[in-house]
Amino acid sequence: MFTLTPLPYAPEALEPAISARTLEFHHGKHLATYVKNLNAAIEGTPLADLSLEEIIVKAVEGGLTAVFNNAGQVLNHNMYFEQFAPEVGQKTAVSAKVSALKSALEAAFGSIESFKSQFAAAGAGVFGSGWVWLQADSENRLSIAKYSGADNPVAHGLRPILTFDVWEHAYYLDYQNRRPDYLATLWQIVNWELVASRL
Ligand code: MN
Repeated sequence: MFTLTPLPYAPEALEPAISARTLEFHHGKHLATYVKNLNAAIEGTPLADLSLEEIIVKAVEGGLTAVFNNAGQVLNHNMYFEQFAPEVGQKTAVSAKVSALKSALEAAFGSIESFKSQFAAAGAGVFGSGWVWLQADSENRLSIAKYSGADNPVAHGLRPILTFDVWEHAYYLDYQNRRPDYLATLWQIVNWELVASRL
């Protein structure tokens, strides 16, 4: 059985980029429902003993749509909420891990600013509900991808590194229809140490 992973910060810690009210609904209601529905879908089946990643792969292989959607959304949201931190902008020390990520981003996208603008543009371009991801292949080559619904890099044999949720529930209370503003603001709260640890 899966449980709701607690937020690693207080609900108001990410304001004004993400409000406490948005987090209360997004984490406390939307993610909690995905966890509940995933448990209901796998209870009493062989999937109940597997990790989220393993369940996603099995769901792809078996065409198990309900399992895939809920397992994908639990993994996506766990990674999304985990990768933010308050007061990130005040950090000055850059670890070796972050340096390695920066080098990989510069190799793939030319510069950090170019990566950020390509990533945000991809997120703005997701049609309807979905996610924009930075993903890595087995050689640690980075790419940006748009995924619909609950889809994610794990379902495509790739490693998930960074993601911005572009379902409307992620931003509508704070930004209404201004998805590009939401995406541009999220850079202020990204915990690069945490993101670099996924590379
Ligand atoms: Mn969401």
